[in-house]
Amino acid sequence: MTNTLTHNPTITPATASGDLPPLHQMEQLYLGLLVIQPSPFCNINCDYCYLPDRADKRRMDFGVLEKVMERVWESGMVGPPFTLLWHAGEPLAVPVKWYREAFDIIDRFQKDQQLVIHSLQTNGTLLNDSWCDFFKERNVEVGLSVDGPAFIHDHHRKTRSGEGTWDKAMRGLETLHRNEIPFGVVSVISDISVDHPDEIYDFYRENGVTGIGFNVEEIEGSNQTSSLDRVDGEERLRRFLERFYLRNKADGFPLRVREFDIARKNILEPGWSHTPDGSYYNLEADPLGMINVDCFGNFSSFSPELLGQPTEKYGSFSFGNVLNGSIFDATKNEAFQRVLADIEAGNRKCAETCPYFTHCGGASPSNKYYENGSFDSTETRQCRATVKMPIQIILADLEDELGITDHEPVVSEEPQPIV
Ligand code: SF4
Repeated sequence: MTNTLTHNPTITPATASGDLPPLHQMEQLYLGLLVIQPSPFCNINCDYCYLPDRADKRRMDFGVLEKVMERVWESGMVGPPFTLLWHAGEPLAVPVKWYREAFDIIDRFQKDQQLVIHSLQTNGTLLNDSWCDFFKERNVEVGLSVDGPAFIHDHHRKTRSGEGTWDKAMRGLETLHRNEIPFGVVSVISDISVDHPDEIYDFYRENGVTGIGFNVEEIEGSNQTSSLDRVDGEERLRRFLERFYLRNKADGFPLRVREFDIARKNILEPGWSHTPDGSYYNLEADPLGMINVDCFGNFSSFSPELLGQPTEKYGSFSFGNVLNGSIFDATKNEAFQRVLADIEAGNRKCAETCPYFTHCGGASPSNKYYENGSFDSTETRQCRATVKMPIQIILADLEDELGITDHEPVVSEEPQPIV
């Protein structure tokens, strides 16, 4: 993703290159991420998926898309380039012809400037040369969802009839390579993968994958439990990350891991992602820093995982519809105000109780809501796995390198077998 200014796992390693100007040079905050759902439909049916309407084949009308762009542009929040992520269903289940027209509509708003960085995350099963031609023509950043070798991937990522999807996803990966399309991979760490860091590392290496992000299987939306809730899930997760870090460090293969990259940057360049007031720039917690629009024009803000999800507590996570009013009308919406108040209360608690707050800005509100039952809460598995553990692993490694030895070495010089 185009900026790493969020820990949101939705954002792909492919777009993690950091194109925003340094935040301390920006006089106001701009839209960082626009998520558009061309269709809720997904052609496969992973058992950990959080999307509630993934069998719904409806598609966004171009009139709705035009209105999205009109609302975004009139908001005054467009300044530096922002990422437009085509998401919240399988984006390639909508034909390439639809995107050609959609991109032309968007181009009318950008005029001569390249303000929109297109990005998508795909399961890869529908990839072909025509898609690759389009990605090249239109500079689309591509993220591929593959969990590792077949015995891991096929455990959770299945078709509606229960067949594994690894073969098709790998055809997609090969198609990207053959067409010389750079891409990142997102892999979900679940109960089946967490004990196999070596097999997963070797898989990336053998398949020429050079940028990855780990999504820890989350309790979110339709996915009401996580397989990592089972015995010692967190300890196994820590061992997975430590081992993976060690393999990566010991190897000359240029594999970049999103979570370690962000952690290293947070340690070595404190302030790199801070806003002018000195707080960590967390797009997911910032009101309207991230705008997520479904295929009917309903929009939410904060974590994209909230889009279209039912909620008794707030009535709706939909804060408006682009067909009926401006983006800023959302700020008058009662649900928006209550969600924002609870997110801010949770972040205040994080700031008071957690030394990692300056490295995450409170991380992902949707994880707090679904794991802890409230936005007004603090620690989650997601923040332990994506914020705390990577920082701890890298700090311990730096201390080892500097000869500070009053701690248990987390990373040793030589790869060690995991016991
Ligand atoms: S508890 Fe988690 S979300 Fe809160 S500040 Fe600490 S690491 Fe960040």
